[in-house]
Amino acid sequence: MTQTWDVVVVGAGPCGAVAARSLVARGWRVALVDRHAFPRQKVCGDALLPDSFEILRGLGLADAVLGAGHPSSVLSVFSPGGFEVRVNGEFLTVRREVFDALLHRAAIQRGAESIVAAVASVSEHPEGAHVEFRSRPILRARACILATGADTRLLRSLRPVIAPAPTAVASRCYVQSSHPLDRLVVTYDRGLGPAYAWIFPLGNGLFNVGVGSVYRSQNRFDHRSLFERFTTVFPEARALMATGQIVSPLRSAPLRCGLDQHALRPGRLCLGAGEAAGSTFPFTGEGIGKAMSTGLLAADAVHAFLRGEEEGLDSYAPAVLRLEPRYRAYSAAHRLLDYPRLMDLAAWRLLKSPWLAGRLTGVLQEERDPRSLFSIAGLLGSFFR
Ligand SMILES: Cc1cc2nc3c(=O)[nH]c(=O)nc-3n(C[C@H](O)[C@H](O)[C@H](O)COP(=O)(O)OP(=O)(O)OC[C@H]3O[C@@H](n4cnc5c(N)ncnc54)[C@H](O)[C@@H]3O)c2cc1C
Repeated sequence: MTQTWDVVVVGAGPCGAVAARSLVARGWRVALVDRHAFPRQKVCGDALLPDSFEILRGLGLADAVLGAGHPSSVLSVFSPGGFEVRVNGEFLTVRREVFDALLHRAAIQRGAESIVAAVASVSEHPEGAHVEFRSRPILRARACILATGADTRLLRSLRPVIAPAPTAVASRCYVQSSHPLDRLVVTYDRGLGPAYAWIFPLGNGLFNVGVGSVYRSQNRFDHRSLFERFTTVFPEARALMATGQIVSPLRSAPLRCGLDQHALRPGRLCLGAGEAAGSTFPFTGEGIGKAMSTGLLAADAVHAFLRGEEEGLDSYAPAVLRLEPRYRAYSAAHRLLDYPRLMDLAAWRLLKSPWLAGRLTGVLQEERDPRSLFSIAGLLGSFFR
């Protein structure tokens, strides 16, 4: 039997879940489809940065998420040569199986219909979009939001020009350790090459530990040996492992960083949002907050369209592209990975210049434009303040 919906949201990660919740809250009939039943695992660093809290507060979900996670007020960033820059802010680690299930439940409790099945294809017809499965009857919808994470197959079937390859790959495992570390740590240590690694405490001696690198199709990435190198060369990781043990296998997943303009509008009735549209920031790999904010922007555009504003869906891409300068600044920062000495100089300046350190805090709190920091002008400016 065919079912008809106002909106079908494909992918129930943070992006799809908040989009669905926002649309049912405005009275639309929404199906929220995922190939997995929730709770489900998602390979991630499990860290929420300040931009996520603003969104969660707006959704009335901040207290529930805070109650499920482990707060930290300091993020330490180590440069290739070992300069440590500490940034104060509101950070929270929460396992994705818990966080995503909480957002999913919030959407379902609000009235979205949960459908657990893999979508095989999406097609567009004069009367609406068809969402097709191998295992169940098709769904018809007036509009679709495709929030399928780094898997862009559905988007590309509508618009083949969308980039197929991820931009980065990252891997994580969980470590149980008695090492007394209670701040988030990210390092670009020289010993890792042009890669990064992190240690994020989850409370009760549990840590999310991982490594990430740019995706290069011609090279097979070997994160197992990168992880071993990390836990050998980086002092905090060595100390963590000296009193700890790995309690889950090292798992890898792709990332799509830096907005993909084509993916924002894969079809006439379909919007692409979240990581599917490349919403994750380059350099930091921070994607949860941006996935949720693009999901909410997609929901606003679909709401306008369903209310009868013919151009409603057209408002989405320009709204997301207003964020583009931030992505360009983080891409510029990412290119610094090829210039470790310049990164060391930047870190050294951050330690010497309260003005520059204030800017870094402002960027992470999303109160400042990252271009004020990740640019030659930003760095040179610090020498005169
Ligand atoms: C190792 C690693 C560490 C990371 N660490 C952090 C971090 O600490 N902080 C941070 O902010 N970001 C981090 N990120 C990025 C973050 O995980 C993503 O940006 C975020 O998950 C994107 O959310 P999303 O909702 O767009 O997609 P996802 O969370 O990937 O959700 C997509 C959903 O779509 C479903 N789906 C896909 N295809 C289909 C289909 N055909 N049919 C039905 N369902 C489908 C999937 O099952 C999935 O549930 C990390 C990423 C990786 C890989």
